[in-house]
Amino acid sequence: MKEQNRNGKSLSERLRTVLLLLEERQGEKIREGSPEPVDILMLTLLSQNTNDALRDKAFAQLRRRFPRWSDVLAAPTEQIEESIRIAGLSRQKAARMKEILAWMREEFADISLKRVENLETEAALALLKSQKGVGIKTAAVVLMIAWGRDLCPVDTHVHRISRRLGWVPETASAEKTFELLKPHVPAGKGYSLHMNLLQFGRTICLARNPLCGDCFLYEECFWEGKAQRIARTGTPR
Ligand code: SF4
Repeated sequence: MKEQNRNGKSLSERLRTVLLLLEERQGEKIREGSPEPVDILMLTLLSQNTNDALRDKAFAQLRRRFPRWSDVLAAPTEQIEESIRIAGLSRQKAARMKEILAWMREEFADISLKRVENLETEAALALLKSQKGVGIKTAAVVLMIAWGRDLCPVDTHVHRISRRLGWVPETASAEKTFELLKPHVPAGKGYSLHMNLLQFGRTICLARNPLCGDCFLYEECFWEGKAQRIARTGTPR
């Protein structure tokens, strides 16, 4: 697919410009600590179709009832379902969790992702993605958060903003968007770009009513609807 050059700038230059503006306004985001990879994987599975608060509540309830992942694996699916009900799609999520925990034990003789950590990024992504219920976003989140791999996972916010900024074609899927952006993410900045785009998507470039009048990325945006939004909400700052 042809690279999305605009205004005579390459995609790499445009990503760099946006990252600078995001960091200037919202701060550089730095990954802290070394979270347990299995926790991150399970937390990300729980996050599907819910918000962060309910995801965290479900995760806390699950860990209170089943302190070790081996306890979750041994528990009847209905009990896991009960513990995570608040996060929605609980039957499906409980089944996926058990399947993935069973896969780890079978594949690595331990409920752990230590062996995945040593793989190079593409192989690690492919191995995680081979599990039902683990898409490229979930796999990339685990690699980025647990091991600090330099990736920018594409969730709903990153997907929407990437299309509005014209980084990728309007029709690009989230998976395609991830692949198209991957070679252009400024070195060492995958985490900061991802977290800053999330913040920007939650506060300014909202899904339904983007605040184009308050947008510091207005000049970088190629979304056709932005002029109409300005007419309703005021001029950009
Ligand atoms: Fe989003 Fe509007 Fe800003 Fe474009 S101008 S990035 S649509 S908030």
